[in-house]
Amino acid sequence: MKTIQLLPLGEVSSALLAAVKEGLGRELRVHCEILPPAPEPSYAFNPGRQQYCSTEILAALDARPLPPATKLLGITSHDLFIPILTFVFGEAQISGPCAVVSTFRLRQEFYGLPSDLELLHGRTIKESVHELGHTLGIAHCEDYNCVMAPSHAVEWIDLKQPGLCEFCRSAVAAH
Ligand SMILES: [Zn+2]
Ligand SMILES: [Zn+2]
Repeated sequence: MKTIQLLPLGEVSSALLAAVKEGLGRELRVHCEILPPAPEPSYAFNPGRQQYCSTEILAALDARPLPPATKLLGITSHDLFIPILTFVFGEAQISGPCAVVSTFRLRQEFYGLPSDLELLHGRTIKESVHELGHTLGIAHCEDYNCVMAPSHAVEWIDLKQPGLCEFCRSAVAAH
């Protein structure tokens, strides 16, 4: 992997994009660029669930032309789901080029708490590193401090470090 392209899917704050760009560069030591925003992913909206299907978003991302050795990370402020789960923070193509993350449930406001942008940015960086790790073929990690540990609630994200453990780091280096 040489480059990560960050693609805002509709309205995403520029401060958040800048924080994710900086965080990915730091944690994955890779060049990261922010693309002009794509339209809102209305094609993936499910009226019954009032959520957006992450798998459909991945298919749309995958249809975009991508330079070699590049990963594409979509960022949305909408709530994501896959059919078997209530929600997902993100989804990735395992060993594929594309991933998507949502900030919807990473905001303190979602839990009835006052806004905390620093926390939001930190959580989004962790989820972004996590999903991009999957695109590099890395599976979930048993070390709860490692960014590749699975997270089914925001408290679990807060337990994790933004970086990869030594084991996962060596797996990334192999790519
Ligand atoms: Zn995962
Ligand atoms: Zn790990």
